[in-house]
Amino acid sequence: MRAESDVFEELRARGHEGLWFASDPETGLRAIIGVHSTVLGPALGGTRIRPYRSVDEALIDVLRLSSGMTYKAAAAGLPLGGGKAVVIADPSKKTPELLTAYGRAIDRLGGTYVTAEDVGSTVEDMEIIARATSHVTGLPVSAGGSGDPSPATAHGVIASMRAVSEFLWGTADLAGRSIAVQGVGKVGSVLAALLAEAGCTLIVADVDRAAVAEVVEATGARPVDVEGILREPCDILAPCALGAVFDEHTIPRLRCTAIVGSANNQLLGPEDAQRIAAAGITYVPDFVANAGGIVNIAEEFHPDGYSWDRALTSLQRIHDTTLRVLEEAAKTGVGTREVAVALAEDRLLTAAR
Ligand code: NAD
Repeated sequence: MRAESDVFEELRARGHEGLWFASDPETGLRAIIGVHSTVLGPALGGTRIRPYRSVDEALIDVLRLSSGMTYKAAAAGLPLGGGKAVVIADPSKKTPELLTAYGRAIDRLGGTYVTAEDVGSTVEDMEIIARATSHVTGLPVSAGGSGDPSPATAHGVIASMRAVSEFLWGTADLAGRSIAVQGVGKVGSVLAALLAEAGCTLIVADVDRAAVAEVVEATGARPVDVEGILREPCDILAPCALGAVFDEHTIPRLRCTAIVGSANNQLLGPEDAQRIAAAGITYVPDFVANAGGIVNIAEEFHPDGYSWDRALTSLQRIHDTTLRVLEEAAKTGVGTREVAVALAEDRLLTAAR
């Protein structure tokens, strides 16, 4: 366990406003809520439920993920801050009592932190958490929420791809483009369906063979093995599976013109953005391309309540942000990731003033 002074040093170094530890011995709840920034609005971010090996591992995850949410919301131009929470538990063993106790912990923060679903938590879990707090999003549409964010995330990725297409090929029309999708889960399968509808040629891979078979059947995509997908020649590569896909070993083998995908933390390290640029590949930073889920959730805060049609219109902002980042990077010679970070920081600074 790290020394207390180290925790404060971590918070200072990453610019966090606060960290809350929640415990409920009766239900076994052990949760950490990280609030990185409330400069633009309430700190919104999902609840990750994982059987972390140690409190330190959970702490690092919550710090890393919550600051990422600040940049994602700011780059997307949303009036929301960045936060994230982790519940140290096996998601297959979570109980309604544990989730309710967790909801009470969120409620004590009085709206500073607003939760949503994430890895290990579901829309149904959000309904249980909502019994104890109103500071929860991602409830089913029937309950007035915005539901599963994955379709919105897929639409956001497409909006970003259209901006890339405009920038590189002078047209937002994706018809005839070859797109390789790594991971056809909740986001990747919707993305593949939308791309097929747009007239793209698809190449797909997933460790889950049944998921691949379903997408192949629905879209006519060409399946390839999981090792090969990153090496497929294509116009756009869409990483929609895991993080840390791009590193010094994988980047030299890439044969795509651009990378636009939903996966979080796609680069192993920040230096990989330079490696991708040096390979002549146009890279849309993950937190720009995958902001569709949070854009959709932000619609829940609208005075008239949530609307999918309004969300679809708002998702076009991802197109505008992508184009702005690509044009600025081309003009200044600065990498796309740095440009996107600077754009987010600029919005934060302006709001803080
Ligand atoms: P998911 O778990 O439904 O899908 C991920 C898919 O990737 C699964 O089908 C899995 O079998 C596959 N996969 C795992 N390892 C793989 C490998 N080595 N090669 C190929 N496929 C592999 O998750 P999701 O909700 O679709 O999210 C996909 C990514 O997008 C994640 O990184 C997630 O953090 C990120 N993301 C999702 C959302 C959202 O709205 N769901 C929003 C923002 C970011």
